[in-house]
Amino acid sequence: MRYEDIPGASAWKIDAFSLHKAPLDPIVAAIDDMLVKYPQAFSPMAKRNLLADLEKSCAAWKPPKPHNPAMDALHEVVKRRLVYSGSAAHPYDKVVCVSYSIKTGMFEAGTQIVKYQGRLDDQRDMEERVRHMKAAINQARNFVPNPARDDSKTLKIFMAPEFYFRGRYGAYPPEIVSKIMPLLQKGDDGTARPLFKDWLFIFGTAISASIDARQYCFTCNSANDIFFDRDPRNPGKTVPKCRKGAGHDVREGIYGAVIDNVALIQKGKEEYLVAKEFISGIDFRDKGTGDGAFVKMDDAGIREKFTPLAPEGSRQSNFPSKFTDERMGGGVFNIAGITFGMEICVDHAEKKLETAGNLQILLIPSAGMEIKYWRTIDNGISFNVDGLRGDGDVQVRRQTGVQQTAAAHQLVNGVPGKIEVFGPLMIPYL
Ligand SMILES: [Zn+2]
Repeated sequence: MRYEDIPGASAWKIDAFSLHKAPLDPIVAAIDDMLVKYPQAFSPMAKRNLLADLEKSCAAWKPPKPHNPAMDALHEVVKRRLVYSGSAAHPYDKVVCVSYSIKTGMFEAGTQIVKYQGRLDDQRDMEERVRHMKAAINQARNFVPNPARDDSKTLKIFMAPEFYFRGRYGAYPPEIVSKIMPLLQKGDDGTARPLFKDWLFIFGTAISASIDARQYCFTCNSANDIFFDRDPRNPGKTVPKCRKGAGHDVREGIYGAVIDNVALIQKGKEEYLVAKEFISGIDFRDKGTGDGAFVKMDDAGIREKFTPLAPEGSRQSNFPSKFTDERMGGGVFNIAGITFGMEICVDHAEKKLETAGNLQILLIPSAGMEIKYWRTIDNGISFNVDGLRGDGDVQVRRQTGVQQTAAAHQLVNGVPGKIEVFGPLMIPYL
């Protein structure tokens, strides 16, 4: 038998009826669950992650488990779909970790607040950082020794620390952040060239801030009970009201700045974004004065103190993020047949991926974090680039806890920071 596409859960249960007699094997139960989720997966990466997990489950079904034609057919279609989605199994044997070691986490001495600068400054600031990073990447390529450099079975992972992209005084507006990846890839020094086909780039993180203005009940001090009702004075229009009371004071209120701290990821023609879930004080220029973390916006006549809000979908937030992007996904992603996990700085301490299974490589772009937990399968690789301590503190560790040693190279031609090269290391496969 053969499946054209990933079967629905009920079709699969009929085809594999002999595997569905009690007691249900845990592998079959996991496959059933994934086939229910597959049609609901909202993004290409979510689908690909499910395919990668399905592939592992199908591969785990081997003797003495009974042979089953539906299982064979499922395995075949899953592998076919993985190739189609650009994540064919196991193109790489080894990995070289290339750290862009540069200090990013410190604020200027004596200042306590983030100031939101004018657009021109942010644009220039961003372009300058792009220029430096492109130069660092091109120099870094020459620091990777051969045969690893030219070996198409060795994946080179370039990673910069958290906060690499943010304005001199804090966050960029979202429209500046959206220009970063196209600029990095562009041109004859860009990362989209075939020269970098075996490179995975994590360009550090970018900080984006947008004022969060929305309808708000100032009587309840909440946005939770707002609804829109017909406006009796304005046919065809609606007015915001509060469910808790007809006389409540409902208006548009600026009551927060939505901060997104997003890791920028690229390999070849593929781009992916991972957002930091947990806000830490260092994301803003707050030193814990009792106000909690805050951002000070100082632009276009607006001068207020706002409470920063964690991004939507994170466990800290009830509000939608303004930085919406179809490439945005969770902390687990499959690229080039490898299952990666990413925890941005305190997400690692907060154990964001504690329950994520089957990670082969854990990436931690950070500012003041060290590898504290093991998230990977046996002999998996954890790669932390810390922009806070020294010139960047970099760790590459195996699950066995052994710190790998690096070769360090100073960057030239006025490019700040240095490059540290770890490996090659074998990639563990299940
Ligand atoms: Zn109310």
